[in-house]
Amino acid sequence: MDKTIAILGATGSVGTQAIDVARARGYRVDLLTANRDFTAMESFARELRPRYVAMADESAAHELTLRLADTNIKVIGGETGVLEGIFASRADTVVNSILGEAGLRPSLAVIDANKRLALANKESLVIAGEIVMARAKERGVDVLPVDSEHCAIFQSMKAGRHSEVKRLILTASGGPFFGCTREQLGRVTREDALAHPTWKMGKKITVDSATLMNKGFEVIEAVHLFGIPADKIEVVVHRESILHSAVEYIDNSVVGELSVPDMRMCVQYAVDYPSRCPSTSSELDLFSVGKLTFFRPDTEAFPFLALAKRLAGAGGAMPAVMNAADEVAVDAFLRGELSFIGIYDTVLEVCDRLSARSAEHTLDGIRESDREARALAREFIENKTTAKKIGGNVS
Ligand code: NDP
Repeated sequence: MDKTIAILGATGSVGTQAIDVARARGYRVDLLTANRDFTAMESFARELRPRYVAMADESAAHELTLRLADTNIKVIGGETGVLEGIFASRADTVVNSILGEAGLRPSLAVIDANKRLALANKESLVIAGEIVMARAKERGVDVLPVDSEHCAIFQSMKAGRHSEVKRLILTASGGPFFGCTREQLGRVTREDALAHPTWKMGKKITVDSATLMNKGFEVIEAVHLFGIPADKIEVVVHRESILHSAVEYIDNSVVGELSVPDMRMCVQYAVDYPSRCPSTSSELDLFSVGKLTFFRPDTEAFPFLALAKRLAGAGGAMPAVMNAADEVAVDAFLRGELSFIGIYDTVLEVCDRLSARSAEHTLDGIRESDREARALAREFIENKTTAKKIGGNVS
């Protein structure tokens, strides 16, 4: 298969699966990027022989330069090095699987370099969806979703016209705490939150799946990718993760995509589109699946879904504020500094205090709001930690 790709965030969960796809499909890989993990990167670079490797962390780039000195692979360092790699690379498709806000500038660079964007980094669209999609349209660049739900919707949208869509049905696994009350959520641990029932993913998105913030992000992602307002996107809990999402048309036909849960199919679809090619993922055996179940999400115990829908409507920098507060809160939770419920408290508090940010529509305004939200979230968590030390009360 004569395709040349770049993989951003190559050492992560999606990134390594993208590498699997490249191996299986025989794509040439011209650029790999990561942040700090130079050990994994050295091994991928030696195997795949890209012309460029970029490490966002300067000291990791320095170490990797020494390790790859016997090769002709060019190692570039720093966040600007990642951008430089995107422009220098000969890739026609760039898989962006960087985690978090750090993926936004690379997404814009891919578009500016006129390369297809295979987008796993949903934060690019959560933070600056209007800007990203407008720039892609202006430059005639395809943005192909790698997120499984959006990949399913993208495929299902081919069954009718945009004007004939009644609503999107976005499926959610429900995460490890499906059916828990708010009180039970008050007792869950980091290990409980990291035990996702169907998907094996990076830690941040696994915690976001447990809080349902991930589904909130995905609603906003869908608004921008498909131009459908948030109130026409219904989230449905589907524990088996077999129906990856669907589109309901005005004649009440529902067209969805079913397959085993495997991100490699989504990466491959995004790179090979509009072609379909054989895949190494397992076939779907409906007999062994047996039955598919669907439930309404509990938006009271899991308040992020309603928050994300509300902020999707508000637009501007509020989704970026929500994302920034969530990044800080989940990081604190993973380090044992914040309880699970504390993630909700932090994000809701920061969104409440910065609620006037819906007017910010420029990248600079959004970045400023992101910085402010991070600082506020850190301050809120520190105050909670101090209160806990004084009062012995964990929340
Ligand atoms: P991981 O944490 O597993 O991997 C993140 C990758 O991004 C790593 O390669 C990491 O490098 C790199 N990275 C982290 N910070 C920076 C930075 N500041 N600059 C440049 N690179 C950086 O994440 P996932 O693979 O789970 O998720 C990646 C994205 O894909 C997220 O947006 C997530 O929401 C989305 N997604 C993930 C799915 C999954 O199944 N995991 C499914 C659908 C979407 P290093 O290893 O050096 O730290």
